[in-house]
Amino acid sequence: MGTKGRSFLGDKANHVIDLLNKALADEWLAYYQYWIGSKVVVGPMKGEVTTELVQHATDELRHADMLVVRIIQLGGTPLLKPEDWSKKTNCGYDTPVDPNVWKILSQNIKGEQCAITTYHKLLKETMQIDPITYQIVVEILRDEEEHEEDLEALLEDLKNLMN
Ligand code: FE
Ligand code: FE
Ligand code: MG
Repeated sequence: MGTKGRSFLGDKANHVIDLLNKALADEWLAYYQYWIGSKVVVGPMKGEVTTELVQHATDELRHADMLVVRIIQLGGTPLLKPEDWSKKTNCGYDTPVDPNVWKILSQNIKGEQCAITTYHKLLKETMQIDPITYQIVVEILRDEEEHEEDLEALLEDLKNLMN
């Protein structure tokens, strides 16, 4: 653990670690939702959509990695078991029971919008006390906003294709 680094957070350290763990749960669930979605998705533009879903899955896994590194730097324990993902999550898990491309894209857009909201809150919480976490969150948030727009653009292309 980084003793001096942590000391600057004072009594807020455990709170920040908890927020990071909650975001970690979201990232794992987002990773799996994208990954399994990329396997089951059917419908028009399937190839293009699959490529995008796989890319986003990779990004979510990288976000999980960034969060764990910071949790450990702050002397925290990252979530150690899958049961904790559903207990700690902010955004939940939207099961892709309907593999239709419209449905999959809509579910993932909803997930990204929740992620954006969550990370905006995290920015507010860390702004004054933890510039390193703040910077990590900015980096992740940049990806989530890109993810949202990518999926919305795909949905738009699909609509145009159908007209
Ligand atoms: Fe993410
Ligand atoms: Fe994302
Ligand atoms: Mg993308």
